[in-house]
Amino acid sequence: NLAGKLAVVTGSNSGIGLGVAEALAAAGADLVINSFTDRDEDHALAKDLADRHGVEVRYVAADMSKAADCRALIAAAGRCDILINNAGIQHVAPIDEFPQDKWDAILAINLSSAFHTTAAALPLMRKAGWGRVVNVASAHGLTASPFKSAYVAAKHGVVGLTKVTALETAGQGITCNAICPGYVLTPIIEAQIPDQMKTHNMSREDVIAKVMLSRQPSGQFATVEQIGGTAVFLCSDTAAQITGTTISVDGGWTAL
Ligand code: NAD
Repeated sequence: NLAGKLAVVTGSNSGIGLGVAEALAAAGADLVINSFTDRDEDHALAKDLADRHGVEVRYVAADMSKAADCRALIAAAGRCDILINNAGIQHVAPIDEFPQDKWDAILAINLSSAFHTTAAALPLMRKAGWGRVVNVASAHGLTASPFKSAYVAAKHGVVGLTKVTALETAGQGITCNAICPGYVLTPIIEAQIPDQMKTHNMSREDVIAKVMLSRQPSGQFATVEQIGGTAVFLCSDTAAQITGTTISVDGGWTAL
């Protein structure tokens, strides 16, 4: 039961972030949800979560590619018992053709943002004597695929940052772990399907089955609800001695 805890979830107006926010709210946590946009629908999403779960939810716009915005997000939250570093983007290209601006953006949003939010949140967690940092890494934090240099480098970096955060907070009532999802059918994955259809000259169904899920021995996508449930578990008292590690939710991908 997470009643009375305040969770900040970066990149949570869609996909896995929203699924994790939903699961935390269902477990009783108050929320700050986030993305870089500041639209009516973002604030409506917060109201909807609050109404359905009977918790307090605020939407705070902050661009996770900017260090100052990352730190301002935690400041705006006021407190931070649970920090879910989830915001992430993808770009797929060979190293020698990889656009430099895409490399910089992926490293900033997928890796550096977690450093900045964690740096801002740890003093608040120490003051409360309790805290949970959950980094949404990836199977690509543990293993690689061609054409995803920035993403794989950033996600390996997130796993490293997770270990250091765990060591610096051990024995302080604070844990830090990374969830490593395999393929989850969210907008970030939807966006890759048309390119893959062209590259492989395949139908949508074949790209899903033969390209994407060929990596996943279960042959099934993981779901945002499953990632949400894993995050709630890591926030529970049962998980108090689980720190500095990764939990794969990848249908067996990294066992291959
Ligand atoms: P998504 O595109 O649905 O979600 C990404 C979220 O990040 C969105 O809410 C988006 O608004 C937000 N975001 C993007 N740029 C931002 C910025 N500059 N500032 C603030 N927010 C920003 O994709 P998703 O699949 O839900 O991805 C969430 C996380 O899960 C990412 O870190 C991704 O790498 C990771 N992940 C996804 C999969 C998958 O198969 N979907 C697998 C492994 C890991």
